[in-house]
Amino acid sequence: MYGTGLAKGLRLTLRHFVESYIDDLRYGFRKYHHSTDNFGIRQGTQTKGVITVQYPDEKVAVPERFRFVPFLIVEDEDHPTRAGKDWCTSCGICAKVCPPQCIWIVRGNDPDTGRPVPEPEGFFIDIDICMNCGYCAEYCPFDAIKMDHDYELASYDRTSHHIHDKEKLSKPNSYWRSIAPTRAYDEMLVRGTWEHKDAAKEARRGSASSRASAPRPAAQQAAPAPVATALAAESESATAPAASAPAEGATPWNEDEAKREERRRKALERKAKRAARGG
Ligand code: SF4
Ligand code: SF4
Repeated sequence: MYGTGLAKGLRLTLRHFVESYIDDLRYGFRKYHHSTDNFGIRQGTQTKGVITVQYPDEKVAVPERFRFVPFLIVEDEDHPTRAGKDWCTSCGICAKVCPPQCIWIVRGNDPDTGRPVPEPEGFFIDIDICMNCGYCAEYCPFDAIKMDHDYELASYDRTSHHIHDKEKLSKPNSYWRSIAPTRAYDEMLVRGTWEHKDAAKEARRGSASSRASAPRPAAQQAAPAPVATALAAESESATAPAASAPAEGATPWNEDEAKREERRRKALERKAKRAARGG
């Protein structure tokens, strides 16, 4: 019917208007004090009503899935085997899928042999061109590039300041866990079996024997050896999100890995039998 959309819009505006005053009553007019302790709750993602944010003294809380320009993850400094290392392998997939083509990657080379190494020597993103679509983060097979929550990037210099280089883009894994704890934890579980092959190798060599003997949650103890080793290395640097992470037990990836291990074991047995018969 003609005018229905208009009526709907006005009804929504009216609802926000009324809810603003309900919020006022709910929080006892505390929102007019800058240093209110309830700011995070009142200005959170569930906030109702129309609000006036006293920016820059106050900022609206952003949800975990909020995305602004990308950043690169480097391993935390306290990681036992990979401290400060790039997660990026300079595979170039993000640059390929980036719709406005605003990513430039310079692949690293071994200074002695001249051979390519799986880490970027240079990484540049033109944030004036970046449209915050998040494709780079979606497609990265190594979880090495993520979308940031920091939206205060204005500057008076439109040239060099808006080309973020590797130094500016690199942020520790702990930062990613602090802004997106749930997603970071889920990702950690999923990549536990393959992401930290280096750490697993290191642990098998014996240098991580102390880590292996450290008490671990039941779900991890039940995991197959490579999984458990990789998780042990990861969990040492994942203290914050792990505390607020989903409950253990619901770890389908553990079952998947166990099934894969079982299949691998059976395949090896079959191969051995065939070899014995052939011999
Ligand atoms: S950020 Fe990810 S997709 Fe992009 S080059 Fe590095 S590893 Fe590849
Ligand atoms: S967020 Fe989108 S536009 Fe920005 S760098 Fe990533 S893929 Fe490119």
